Amino acid sequence: MYFHTQQLINEIVPDQPDPFAANALQEGLGGQFGEMRTMMQYLFQSVNFRGPAVQYKDLIHAVAVEEISHVELIATTIARLLDGAPGYQPNGDGGVPGAGGGTPLQSILHTGNIHHFLVGAQGALPVDAAGNPWSGSYVYNSGNLVLDLLYNLMLEATGRTQKCRIYEMSDNKTLRVTVAYLIVRDEVHEKVFAKALESLGVDWGKTLPIPNFDATKYPEVKALYDTGIQNVQYTFRLDGSRAGEVFQGASPFNDGTTIRMMDRPEQGFAIPQAPERLEEFAPGLTPELMELAQAAAAMAAGGPRVSGSGVNLSGAAAGSAASAGAAPPRTAGGTEPLVRVEKDGQEIPLKGGEKIDLTADEPTARPTSASS
Ligand code: MN
Ligand code: MN
Repeated sequence: MYFHTQQLINEIVPDQPDPFAANALQEGLGGQFGEMRTMMQYLFQSVNFRGPAVQYKDLIHAVAVEEISHVELIATTIARLLDGAPGYQPNGDGGVPGAGGGTPLQSILHTGNIHHFLVGAQGALPVDAAGNPWSGSYVYNSGNLVLDLLYNLMLEATGRTQKCRIYEMSDNKTLRVTVAYLIVRDEVHEKVFAKALESLGVDWGKTLPIPNFDATKYPEVKALYDTGIQNVQYTFRLDGSRAGEVFQGASPFNDGTTIRMMDRPEQGFAIPQAPERLEEFAPGLTPELMELAQAAAAMAAGGPRVSGSGVNLSGAAAGSAASAGAAPPRTAGGTEPLVRVEKDGQEIPLKGGEKIDLTADEPTARPTSASS
């Protein structure tokens, strides 16, 4: 199961809207060598992994989970670059779509991908830079560990090459800061899969990294190198990981540096809230609908809270707990409650077989079977 922190893995730096830069980034999101492909390829390889050498499964899984955050980062970056593009006039007062006589979305007829505005509402799409939909047939999972690792290294090297090309296409700061971060992380992932293959007998010599150039000529990359994250892979595991048995010691790039695992990045970054866009009818909440939303929120604020802190991660039936959300809490059928219910900071004790009415002002546990 997966848990989410409402933070981005790297910061998004504001700059002017730029739908052409956004469209270039679509290749890095939904292209054949983009973040959606790395995420899905490693998730499938991890799920389908066979045999007892689970340190390799843990390693592939660690990268898979990081790639989920990359999908989130690059998609959010694309949305930020699209947001407000119809109203952006570099030399005018700008800011209001249609100001100056045009129709609100007129400028979009001459943009990178009209679907960004016509199908979506100035947000990212699961397509590549040419508009082709992302395809599950990109995913490579042969079941042979060496073959899969070779393919993963090729995937990271191609992704890094394409991101370096995207960096060279635009000086938009929003694009460059995100692309620089992904260039550095792709470099780490080249190391991850190269090290795994090295542990299985491969000698890399002077082959890596791909592309082989001094990436510190990009100032945004240099700034990230100064933090040291080019030699760290995260496990994103709450219950321990054996990936560090593979990813430790000398870098497979033979550059004299040392690589290591950490359980998580040292910091996260706030996710910017996207403004409403009237010209896209998004999100389309009329004053009447907003009133309904606020009334529902007020009702929830006065009621009991279902707290994630009570989720029993070690229980045999814990699989159902993560999705409990605001649904009526379930019990494991044993003595340990899967979900803790609180009211005014006080925990309401639940025993096996009990149910609770979360809609009542004063929630009380109602025994549905004999309880001790
Ligand atoms: Mn990535
Ligand atoms: Mn990667």
